[in-house]
Amino acid sequence: MAGRIPESFINDLLARVDIVDVIDERVPLKKAGRNFQARCPFHEERTPSFTVAPEKQFYYCFGCGASGTAIGFLMEYDRLDFVEAVHDLAARVGMTVPSEAGADPGAKSGEAVRLYTLLEQAQQYYSRELKDHPQSERAKTYLKARGLDGQTAAAFKLGYAPPGWDSLLKALGTTAEAVRDLEAAGMLVPKDGTGATTGQSQHYDRFRDRIMFPIHDHRGRVIGFGGRILDQGEPKYLNSPETPVFHKGRELYGLFHARKTNRQLARLFVVEGYMDVIALHQHGVTNAVATLGTATTRDHLERLFRATPEVAFCFDGDEAGRRAAWRALETSLPLLGEGHYVNFLFLPAGEDPDTLVRKEGAAVFEDTARFTPLSDFLFDTLCAQVNLATLDGRARLVDLAKPLLTPVPSGALKQMLAQRLSRLSDLDLRTLAPMVGGVRAPSAGDDARRGRITAPREGRSLVRLAITLLLHVPSLALKVERAEQLVRSGQGGAELLAELIAFVQSNPDVGSGALVEHWRDRPEGRHLQKLLAQELATPAEGVEAEFLAAIERLRDLVHKAMCAELARKPLKELTEEEKSLLRQLSASEK
Ligand SMILES: [Zn+2]
Repeated sequence: MAGRIPESFINDLLARVDIVDVIDERVPLKKAGRNFQARCPFHEERTPSFTVAPEKQFYYCFGCGASGTAIGFLMEYDRLDFVEAVHDLAARVGMTVPSEAGADPGAKSGEAVRLYTLLEQAQQYYSRELKDHPQSERAKTYLKARGLDGQTAAAFKLGYAPPGWDSLLKALGTTAEAVRDLEAAGMLVPKDGTGATTGQSQHYDRFRDRIMFPIHDHRGRVIGFGGRILDQGEPKYLNSPETPVFHKGRELYGLFHARKTNRQLARLFVVEGYMDVIALHQHGVTNAVATLGTATTRDHLERLFRATPEVAFCFDGDEAGRRAAWRALETSLPLLGEGHYVNFLFLPAGEDPDTLVRKEGAAVFEDTARFTPLSDFLFDTLCAQVNLATLDGRARLVDLAKPLLTPVPSGALKQMLAQRLSRLSDLDLRTLAPMVGGVRAPSAGDDARRGRITAPREGRSLVRLAITLLLHVPSLALKVERAEQLVRSGQGGAELLAELIAFVQSNPDVGSGALVEHWRDRPEGRHLQKLLAQELATPAEGVEAEFLAAIERLRDLVHKAMCAELARKPLKELTEEEKSLLRQLSASEK
C-alpha cells in the first residue's frame, strides 16, 4: 500500500531513478529507436516484445500485457511488495524513505534486519551441526533412507538441531538482546515465569533433536524453520510460530528455489510437505512448493499467480485428498481467468509425490493428460451429487453451481463454465447468465440497445483518447481550465479524466510513469497502464491539438447535457440566469 509513504516522495523517487538501469541490471536491454527492448521476462517468447520507454519511465510488453514503472517492475521481477520496492529503489539513489506521522518503521525494520541476521546464523549453525555433531548420524541416516543426496541437502541448506535444551541458546544467545531477538524470531521459548530461578536462563530451544528445514522468503532470506522429529514423537513436524518476519498464511516453502532454478515458471505444483518439494527437486521437478502446515490461502494463490500462470495442486486421490482439493478449488475461484489456470493432480492410492517421482520419474509431472482441470473437477463433483436425469436434479445442479461460479471474474473461463452449466442443466444461458453475473448471453434486444448507445460511445472514446494523450504528455493538463465541468458530460471515465488533470495541475512536474503509479491501487490502475503502453498514432507535434480538440468536443457534450437538464425543468422554475444560459445553449446547438 502506498498509504504510509507520501506521494510526493514517490514522485521524487521515480524522477531520480532511471528505469532503464533498473531493468537492464536484471534483463539486458538493447536499444531500439527511442526505446529499449528485450525478450520478456514475464512470458516465454522468441522475439522481443518487451519494451522500456525512457521518456515515459515505463515498461510494457506487447506479448503478455505486463507493464509498469520501476516500482512495478521490482514488485513483479524481484517479488517485492510495494514498500519493499520503494525502499530498494530509494537505497540505490541514496534517498531515505520518510514515513507519515505516527508510525516508527525505523525501529520495526531495524528489528526485522536483526531477526533476518540471527535466523541466517541459526541456519548456518544447524548446517554445521548436521555435519559435525556426534549425534547427527541418525539425521544423516534418515535423509539417506529417504534417498536424498548431499547436493540436494546442501541446496536446501538442511541442518540438524542437536538434542539438549540450550544448544542454540548457548551458540547464539550471547547477549541479553540476542536472547530477546531469538525469542522474537521464534527460536527460543520462554520458560514459565514462576518456575524460573534467577541466574539461570529463562529460555530453552524450540527445536531439539530435529532435522531442520530453513524456510526462505521470496528474496532468499531465512524467515523460519520446519523441524522434523527423528524418532517417534509428536509433533512429527514443528514449524516456527508467527513472527514479525514469518507469516504462514503467506509463505510457500520452495518458491524461492523454484524461481531461482527456473527463469520461467510455466506451472507450479503445490504439494504437501518439505520432503515432497525436496525429493521432487532432486528428481528434476524443480517447480514444486508446499504450504506450511496450512490449507492454501488466497494470499498464497496471489503469490503463486504472480510467479506462474498455472497452479497444479497435488492431492491424494482418496476421500480426504478430494475434500482438501475442493477447499483449494473454492479458494481459487475468485482468482481464475486473466490467464490464471488451476489443475489438480490426484495421486494413485498409496503414493505421495516423493514415491511417485522415484517410481515413474519426472515425466509424470509433465504429463498433462494426468491432470484434472478445475472445471472438470468442479462439475464432476457436483454432478455426482445430483440426478441429472430428472428436472429437480438439474435444478439442484444450478443451485449448487451458482455460488461457485459467481465469484469467478468475468472472462473466457467464466463464460465457458456458464455454458457448460447451461448444457448440463438444460437451462437457457440467457436465464442462467444473470444468476452468476458477468456472463454474456445473446439476447434479442442486443442490437437495438447497441444502436441506442452510439452517442455515449462516441463520448466514451473521446474520454479514452483524452486520457491516453494526457498520460503520454502529462503537461497537457496545464492547458485545461475548469476540468471539473467535464464530469457533467455524463460520459464514463470523465471523472477519471478530470481527476488526472487536477492531479497534474497540482503536481506539474509529474512524469508519465509516476502519474500512472498514483493509480496503482485503484481499479482504474491497470487500465491506465494499458493506455500508457500504447504507442501514440499522432505525431508529437499534433498531440496538443488533438487533445484540446477532444476536450472541446467533451465540452459540447457538457453543454448538451446541461441543456437537456434545463429543458426538463418547468420554465417557471428557472432562474433568470438559467433562462439566459438555456437560450445561449439552444442557440449554439444550431
Ligand atoms: Zn511479456
